Amino acid sequence: MTLKSINPYDGSLIASYDQVSEDKLEELLDKSASQWVEWRATPFNKRKSLLEETAKILRDRKEQYASLITREIGKAINESRGEIEKCAWVCEYYAENAQRFLISEEVATEYSKAQIDYQPLGPILAVMPWNFPFWQVFRFAAPNLMAGNVAILKHASNATGCSLAIQQLFLDAGFPEGTFLSLFLRGSETSKLISDSRIAGVTLTGSTLAGKAVAEAAGKSIKKSVLELGGSDPYLILEDADIDLAVEKCVAGRLMNAGQSCIGAKRFIVVASVYDKFIKKFIAKMKMAKVGDPTEDDTHVGPLASKQFREELHFQVEKSIEKGAVLELGGEVPEGKGAFYPPTVLSNVSKGMPAYDEELFGPVASVIMVDDEDAAIEVANDTNFGLGAAVFTTDLKRGERIASDSIRAGAVFVNDFVKSDPRLPFGGIKESGYGRELSLYGIREFMNVKTVVVS
Ligand code: NDP
Repeated sequence: MTLKSINPYDGSLIASYDQVSEDKLEELLDKSASQWVEWRATPFNKRKSLLEETAKILRDRKEQYASLITREIGKAINESRGEIEKCAWVCEYYAENAQRFLISEEVATEYSKAQIDYQPLGPILAVMPWNFPFWQVFRFAAPNLMAGNVAILKHASNATGCSLAIQQLFLDAGFPEGTFLSLFLRGSETSKLISDSRIAGVTLTGSTLAGKAVAEAAGKSIKKSVLELGGSDPYLILEDADIDLAVEKCVAGRLMNAGQSCIGAKRFIVVASVYDKFIKKFIAKMKMAKVGDPTEDDTHVGPLASKQFREELHFQVEKSIEKGAVLELGGEVPEGKGAFYPPTVLSNVSKGMPAYDEELFGPVASVIMVDDEDAAIEVANDTNFGLGAAVFTTDLKRGERIASDSIRAGAVFVNDFVKSDPRLPFGGIKESGYGRELSLYGIREFMNVKTVVVS
């Protein structure tokens, strides 16, 4: 069985990789389990210096890694560079803060001593997606390696080149062999790996479907899991919004990574009194985005990651139009070799359409008109997902109140698009998953929170 990396810009085959054999898999799992015994005893200062070296290498080799991402996934090169910078940031952040996050805590009780310790669990399996092929790996690996867990990466089959490069990067930074391992395996064959006694926990970023399979396998063997799944993030544009700012942020949030982001802006819920003004400017700005060769510095939107993803997206657009959505911009599959899909705007979107009910993983915006704030909140929450959301209003108190009290999601931003940040917890509710990555919360997910009492 081989895994193929295909350049989505021109359809050329970059490389083929053999799936890991049964014997090799055994060897890797043994290596990981034995390395964990060494690694968990390695002092924080040593782990810290290795992660700082990792950050340095990421910065030194930024162009090399960015062009690998762009080749394998089709991401616009400037965004790929930004992704590498962010990986360096998360390494530095955890190198600096991990020890503080995991320090033992004493609790006052009637005992002579009661203490909470944070101890690593063991080898953690990371099932990762292709859309941020470096970032999603580093935001898992940096906290877990600092915490004393070891990492096994099962990357998306179409990001195997990135998977190999990341494994080599950790070795080059000086991490001992077996601390971070990549293995090449199809997603559909991952469940049996989760039940292996050498695996202590599993984290997945990807579709809700894959999340359900991983949660089921983890549940069957009582293993801790973290799921970071899809989203259909609502963006509320209220009557007192700064429309130019809202348009700028909404377009940036929708076109990030050619629309292939779990926290991409997806449903734009606009109050009727500013609807015409918003949609006119929004369409004009979506139209201006430069679509093209992802290796060029001024390209904003590259191809989608594969032609298959484009087909699925176009099907959702066509189905929505059949059910009454109005095509305001784009919506046609272009001729040519790349997996391109144009920036697309659908209006008159309502419940029962894929553009309302499902995640649209591409540069397609669903615009929904509502009467007022209450209706906007109701539509925002009318989804199976609960990852991110944004509210646009010039009344910051009002924005904060809606963000805090009314929107059911893992993160709500006022007057900006949603982005992940090493300092802030990241994750969702409902079908967007459970558990948190990043910040103090992320590093404690795969720890034994141990109570020690001395009578
Ligand atoms: P998947 O969820 O299928 O892939 C993500 C990861 O999960 C990959 O490593 C994949 O492996 C693995 N995987 C797939 N099926 C299983 C399974 N049954 N058990 C264990 N692991 C599995 O995403 P796709 O790449 O197919 O994208 C499809 C859709 O998923 C997108 O259109 C989007 O809606 C959503 N998605 C969301 C992401 C997010 O950031 N929230 C990221 C990526 C996708 P393999 O590649 O070998 O199949």
